[in-house]
Amino acid sequence: MNYDVVIIGVGVVGSAVALGLAQQGHKIAIVDKSSVPPNSPRHLSVNKKSSAFLDLLGVWDAVKPSSMPYSRIQAWDREGTGKVEFSAQDIGENNLGFIVKEGDLQKYLISSLEQLGVDIFWSKELINISDKGDLVEIILDDGKKLISSSLLGADGISSKVRELCNFQIKSWSYDQQAIVGQIDSDEKLDDVIRQSFTKYGPLALLPINSSQMTMIWSVDNKSLKDLSELDDDLFLEKLQLEFGGKTRNLKFSSQRFTFPLKHLTAVGFAKGRIAILGDAAHHVHPLAGLGLNSGLGDAESIVKLFSKYPAVKVETIFKQYSNERLPINIGLAAAMELFKRGFGNQNIWLKTIRNLTFKFVDNQQEIKNTFVKLATTL
Ligand SMILES: Cc1cc2nc3c(=O)[nH]c(=O)nc-3n(C[C@H](O)[C@H](O)[C@H](O)COP(=O)(O)OP(=O)(O)OC[C@H]3O[C@@H](n4cnc5c(N)ncnc54)[C@H](O)[C@@H]3O)c2cc1C
Repeated sequence: MNYDVVIIGVGVVGSAVALGLAQQGHKIAIVDKSSVPPNSPRHLSVNKKSSAFLDLLGVWDAVKPSSMPYSRIQAWDREGTGKVEFSAQDIGENNLGFIVKEGDLQKYLISSLEQLGVDIFWSKELINISDKGDLVEIILDDGKKLISSSLLGADGISSKVRELCNFQIKSWSYDQQAIVGQIDSDEKLDDVIRQSFTKYGPLALLPINSSQMTMIWSVDNKSLKDLSELDDDLFLEKLQLEFGGKTRNLKFSSQRFTFPLKHLTAVGFAKGRIAILGDAAHHVHPLAGLGLNSGLGDAESIVKLFSKYPAVKVETIFKQYSNERLPINIGLAAAMELFKRGFGNQNIWLKTIRNLTFKFVDNQQEIKNTFVKLATTL
């Protein structure tokens, strides 16, 4: 069977790009090593640009009712007095974005792919790629061979497409692990994302509905053991103490999971008829909640370029995609690095400067509006 585009990875980014291209009439196959369609319980923040793209794909109306809009982001330095608040009102909007269950995004994207008759290969792992110049052969672990005019790797942070095609990368560990979990509150939650920069690392609480929050605490490796060994009650006591803002009677409603955090950026996102996108191409610290948003930005860029050029110009499309998205993702990576280093450092002068910067930025509406616009249009 010959395809116009084969996509490896039925994550949110892979299924979004597959849907956009299938809707344009391209013959698409999508492959994932998972045995069942994913239904991830994780909650992620989705910005306005991403929700507009999901709307264009026809899935936003289905996802929106179970999402939680947020209208403000508050961040403060737990070890000082600096704080900053970003508000939708300041830019004349009702909200800054939405907290969405990843599993809901996956469910509606995959069912739309099925309705369009896209070939989805579950339980199939990519093991080899052969670039024949005018087409690409994709070999799966059961020996099946897919022949395609082009290949997209949306296969996540440990991308096999990236490895097999020798995309060069720059990568380093943040020396932190993210502890994530879902927390119930017995009081009504408001629509505010709160983040405290604690001595262990940034601690974010995102409301996912009026009584539940998702917690992402990025903890330095050296302190991980101290926190991981605490039982739920002691962990929540520590969280309340370190959070410093207003928290309520809290109880975990999920297990706590831990993810190692690292930075990764490919030096280029395209090689001839093969391109990578989403976490396969770039992965940043979760402190700004922008990784999926920038992956959806990649998917949107590719979908738009396919509508602009004839499909035979796929090498031009991928080159232009890489030129468009690489600088944006490098800028995002640099900003995250600055935050991570600025807040990870206990030097008294740096602490003073970061508190003064927080206070300064909080009083500069123009700067805050620029930050918000950048974060919502990535
Ligand atoms: C703690 C934490 C919190 C986060 N919070 C946010 C947030 O609030 N907002 C936000 O925008 N981002 C957030 N992110 C980032 C976001 O989770 C990722 O950027 C995003 O999920 C990546 O999606 P993806 O589709 O590119 O990759 P993935 O979701 O990793 O999908 C890759 C798919 O490829 C498949 N695959 C892999 N290898 C193969 C192979 N060889 N053959 C076949 N299939 C294969 C996998 O099974 C998987 O289904 C967070 C990240 C972390 C760690």
